[in-house]
Amino acid sequence: MIKANPNYFKLPVVYLFQQVAKTVKEYKDTHPNADVISLGIGDVTQPIPMASIEAMHKATDEMAKAETLRGYGPEQGYEFLRKAIIENDYKAKGIDIALDEIFISDGSKCDVGNIQEIFDVTAKVAIPDPVYPVYRDTNIMAGRELTFLPCKESDNFSPSLPQTDCDLIYLCSPNNPTGSVMTKEDLKKWVKYAKEKNAIIIFDSAYKEYIRTPGIPQSIYEIEGAKEVAIELRSFSKTAGFTGVRCAYMVIPHALKALDPNGKDIELNPLWARRHTTKFNGVAYIVQRGAEAIYTEAGKKQVKATIDYYMENARLIRTGLKECGFEAFGGIDAPYIWMKAPNGVTSVKLFEALLTQAEIISTPGSGFGTYGEGYVRLTSFGTRENTIRAIERIGKIKL
Ligand code: PLP
Repeated sequence: MIKANPNYFKLPVVYLFQQVAKTVKEYKDTHPNADVISLGIGDVTQPIPMASIEAMHKATDEMAKAETLRGYGPEQGYEFLRKAIIENDYKAKGIDIALDEIFISDGSKCDVGNIQEIFDVTAKVAIPDPVYPVYRDTNIMAGRELTFLPCKESDNFSPSLPQTDCDLIYLCSPNNPTGSVMTKEDLKKWVKYAKEKNAIIIFDSAYKEYIRTPGIPQSIYEIEGAKEVAIELRSFSKTAGFTGVRCAYMVIPHALKALDPNGKDIELNPLWARRHTTKFNGVAYIVQRGAEAIYTEAGKKQVKATIDYYMENARLIRTGLKECGFEAFGGIDAPYIWMKAPNGVTSVKLFEALLTQAEIISTPGSGFGTYGEGYVRLTSFGTRENTIRAIERIGKIKL
């Protein structure tokens, strides 16, 4: 009989969020009158910008006529969207990115997993701990050796440099789940390290629009020389509520090199172009028009208003927790608040206390990595009303 991929048996049996959903379902089943508020999974609750809705309606109407119908599009993404990204996300910030360095995709989650294909299976991978579990799980599936980079409270949850040499390094700023951000100095340290070790950084800035503190980089390319060592991932999911619409992009600069089987330096950009054009048939035209619209004047205002809304939730959670005597981090440049469990209480115990005593869904920090133990993640993606109600209940819990 054919053998199943043995790497899948090295994974945690259930994906973290499925485990949380199962526990919550059991609680709801046994408490049918429960008024449970979710500050758990990082999904949006506010409508996507009206500018995107209008653009998608218009694009849909184009599909109704033979003259304006769009079939298969360019796999790498339509030029109109790639140009809008370059102008607004990079050129406006003094960063020069070429049109063929941008690859539009249907989400950063897929990009995180798929990008590994262009690297040798023996590449040693470094992953912050705690972090978005998809980095870890997709690399385990691929059978790679992993090193974890502790992100400790004493270092503002910024990942420490690896003890052994690594080839591929994932960085996430603003961070999911800790809500911490990497400063320019932090990123300079990593770019220097990657240059010295000939390593490549995969920089995930899915939450870049949430940065409020002046001087915190939104892009790793704000650091000199980063184009030679870094791939950047960005998503429209949390910027513009596209979690269900699906659109993201990845930047693979021409300056980024790796060794071919003969030990010669080659560009990674054409390898990814080959992979993308072979295995992917592009994001829907309608969706790409919706994404383009966030860069219009109206779109920018609407995006800002929604992010301001979520960040006010973040402020309410942070200050509410502190008033109840809990320590909490993040929520200043990110939609996530990292709530610390008092005196040795575990993540799962705190998660259970929040669920059963306050009917609030959180996510246990231990599911994001060993160094997440002792914390839970709360998100600010709820409605204002639910966020306020949740905070009013948190003071009740006894640990
Ligand atoms: N990267 C990080 C750090 C995330 O937290 C998420 C989603 O929660 C993603 C990527 C996935 O984004 P997308 O919806 O584009 O797949």
